[in-house]
Amino acid sequence: MLVDKDELIRKANDPKYIPGIYNYCDRWCARCNFTSRCLNFEISEEQFSTPESRDIQNKEFWNQLSDLLSSTLKMVQEDLEERGIDISNMDFSDVEEHRKRVKENSKNHLLNKLSQEYINKVSEWFETAKDFLKSKDIDLENLYELGVQNIGKEKVYVAIVDAIDVIYWYQYQIQVKLRRALNGKQEEASNPDAYEGFPSDADGSAKVALIGIDRSMAAWGKLYEEFPEKEDRILDILVLLERLRKFSEKEFPKARAFVRPGFDEV
Ligand code: SF4
Repeated sequence: MLVDKDELIRKANDPKYIPGIYNYCDRWCARCNFTSRCLNFEISEEQFSTPESRDIQNKEFWNQLSDLLSSTLKMVQEDLEERGIDISNMDFSDVEEHRKRVKENSKNHLLNKLSQEYINKVSEWFETAKDFLKSKDIDLENLYELGVQNIGKEKVYVAIVDAIDVIYWYQYQIQVKLRRALNGKQEEASNPDAYEGFPSDADGSAKVALIGIDRSMAAWGKLYEEFPEKEDRILDILVLLERLRKFSEKEFPKARAFVRPGFDEV
């Protein structure tokens, strides 16, 4: 069902929800302990709760998303009008040029390259370890079902499946968050007055990336421990992650101290 504009505003003002908690989370709602305090989760559940809407191939999914976009645009339009801002005649060509430059710089940054290398290494590792894992009763194509069927399995087996789940979850997200952090850092540096007094989105995004790196390292550590026959390749990946972690902390020295709404608050 479509959430209308007034309902959206009412919910956004409900103290039950932690403002902005979804901005610096890892989007792993199935493993999140703040679902009851997250407006984003609540809206997704309401909007996409039918079996049909769970299926991203389904027409209803896209229709509902389009409805949500309409109410958001309407809300933004009304807000702009109230503030006397007319964006219809604005020239955005400078902004476009600037954005392109920022994106290009981030793409060429060492952190982006290292995180891409990590993505590739993870894919390669799982590709070559597919049969080996199958011999241990772990079918990568069926990981979700394995997680569900874990009940009653040996602790070690569960821990291995969980570790693989963690690695997969963060494999791409680390790069996405680092790219956002790199873009944000340049934006913040190019117009410091505009960002003065606000928490740094670049540091927040870098923190999410760092958490993904930490958890991935822990997960690889588990595989290293359990699969001595694979330790050389795993060690190689762990060294790469350690470099990524060190360089990320160097590039974003304040990231670890960033306070994420909800997660880092008492
Ligand atoms: S805060 Fe938790 S529930 Fe909300 S979007 Fe993030 S992971 Fe999902």
